Order: sequence, then C-alpha cells, then structure tokens
Amino acid sequence: MSSNKFVCRVCGNPQADPPWGEDNQSPTYEICDCCGVEFGYGDCTPKAIKVFRDRWLVTGGNWKYPKYKPDNWSLEEQMKNIPES
Ligand SMILES: [Zn+2]
Repeated sequence: MSSNKFVCRVCGNPQADPPWGEDNQSPTYEICDCCGVEFGYGDCTPKAIKVFRDRWLVTGGNWKYPKYKPDNWSLEEQMKNIPES
C-alpha cells in the first residue's frame, strides 16, 4: 500500500523521507523540490496548504529546483497523489 506520508501535501511530489515524519507529527522543515513549500510551516493546516498551492499554481506550477524535475513529469498526474486534508 502506498502511503500518503511520502508525498508533499501541497503538490503531491513524492519525497524520499516523510515530510511530517513517520508519526505524521514531526515535520522535517525541508523544502519541497517541486512547489517549494517548507514542510511543517507552509503545510501546517489545510488552509495553509490551499493558500500555498493556489499561489504556486497561479505562478505556473513551476519547480523550485528544476534540476529534480523528471523528464516525463505531469502536474496533473502528480496532483492525484495529494492526500485529502
Ligand atoms: Zn511540494
């Protein structure tokens, strides 16, 4: 079973480590390579997540660190990973 723990709550980008820790309560304060949110800060409430996501999408949904962007990347596909909040 794939776990939502390993995706960014804002953009759905898979993460090597769970952004909010194994217990979902210990944010790493790392920056998402894709949307640029800081885990534990910009994604701390459903409202914060939505505000950050909307701002990110309005500016084009670009990668914060484009070198990590997969060749076959699809914003639409990735956003299917986003956990319900
Ligand atoms: Zn993200």
